[in-house]
Amino acid sequence: MTVESFEKRLLDERARMKPTQEMIRARIRKHARGPRSRQILLDVLESESLGHLDFALFACPPVIDHGKGAILWDVDGNEYVDCHAGFAVCALGHGNTEIGQAIASQLGRVSQFAELPMEIRAELARRMAARFPGGTPAKVFFGVTGGEAVEIAMKVVRWYTGKPLILTQYGDYHGRTSGAMGLTSKAFMLAYNWPVPPGDQAIIRFPFAYCYRCPYDKTYPDCNIYCVHALERQFESKEAPFRNPMAGVSNVAAILVEPFQASAGYIIPPFEYLQRLAALAEAYDILFVSDEVQAGMGRTGRMWAIEHANVVPDLLTTAKSLSNGLPMSLVIGRPEILDSWGPGAHSTTFAGYPAAAAGANKVLDIFERDHVIENASERGRYFLNGLRRLAEEHPSVGDTQGTGLFLAIELVRDRETKEPASEETSWASQECLNKGLICISSGYYSNRLCFAPPLVITEAEIDRALEALDDVIGAMERRFGLRPTRRPKGTTPQGRSM
Ligand code: PMP
Repeated sequence: MTVESFEKRLLDERARMKPTQEMIRARIRKHARGPRSRQILLDVLESESLGHLDFALFACPPVIDHGKGAILWDVDGNEYVDCHAGFAVCALGHGNTEIGQAIASQLGRVSQFAELPMEIRAELARRMAARFPGGTPAKVFFGVTGGEAVEIAMKVVRWYTGKPLILTQYGDYHGRTSGAMGLTSKAFMLAYNWPVPPGDQAIIRFPFAYCYRCPYDKTYPDCNIYCVHALERQFESKEAPFRNPMAGVSNVAAILVEPFQASAGYIIPPFEYLQRLAALAEAYDILFVSDEVQAGMGRTGRMWAIEHANVVPDLLTTAKSLSNGLPMSLVIGRPEILDSWGPGAHSTTFAGYPAAAAGANKVLDIFERDHVIENASERGRYFLNGLRRLAEEHPSVGDTQGTGLFLAIELVRDRETKEPASEETSWASQECLNKGLICISSGYYSNRLCFAPPLVITEAEIDRALEALDDVIGAMERRFGLRPTRRPKGTTPQGRSM
């Protein structure tokens, strides 16, 4: 290979991994939701690095100005039902004045005092420790971002066990800091990272129970959770790097997983899968860590997703909706693990930030007062029923999943072959914006639409979201020549008479 062809190949490969400024400018001109949005997006393109998320999530993102509850308005006055909540962050809705006042009042007292003790932080630590699954005694460790909570968990499990390896699932997302990136296995994430591989190499992946497309081509429940069985077999093999079966010694510190895969497309495994994974960890004396940065804090209709499986993890990470919008993260878990290291083992200037702690305490007050988690469970059932009715109407909806307000549909070109409707899904998520619905597309094959609205979304707002989806999926099926929808005249997707 000549140097010239090598360079050309490299440049070609890179070009395939990212759109050019000109391509994005064309998308902005075509899809911007109004003149102010267009101008702001063009400004962003001029002044901000292309490496951020703006133009990756949508062909052309909305430019949000303000919100109330589950409704958002962009700078051109367009209104949207928000089924994204800033990646499951604003659990109690946008423009929540109670939380805003709690934060403002703390900012008026003292905004920040390094990472040093404060009454408001101590109160939050006590309340969050008390929410550890199973009422098990627990302590907490504060961080700022979800990725940092994962880094803390990775460090402490290695410190506590003295062992290097961490096992995780293909498709998991745990953050993009150097260590957490090692656990984040999405191929296109590696493409973002390229050409520098993740810093942490002591990580081994196993397939997640994505049952609609079983990695072992089996069918649940007949499979008897073969995926965990396959992993277990490796622990007994001297050719796997996990364990010396003769000595009965393993070098694995922890199994660290997303109990429900969020960024991979809101995929929910059988709860039995999580039980079997936790049992495997226990059998081989390995710690079990549940990353609930996205699925936790009531989103799935329980405080923690892992509680659906009745599993008590050793550690749990959370962030996102903890303070309804201010950055704050936590590792919660067994005191002997979190006390195994000494003062200063991990530190970051803004950890336990008092204003975010004030917001988080208010979030917990509202959760208790308004029965937010129970509501999330009920509204989730309502939303899921609506999605199931859409699946009856639209042959392109191959799969529907939802637990609480953690929901998704998977779009296919053919239900028999399950051929992913990837291009169609990307078109649909952009078209949803035009119909006043914000939801994102994701999935192993970029063919899932995900729904994570604020937990305070009303049934009327869910109806609006479903109506928009019905229109968009119908239009998508016609546009891409998928089988036309057949719905009895005079009914809405909610099944009521119009
Ligand atoms: N873990 C999970 C499960 C997540 O969904 C995310 C964020 N999408 C992270 C960790 C990383 O959180 P952050 O972006 O706040 O670093």
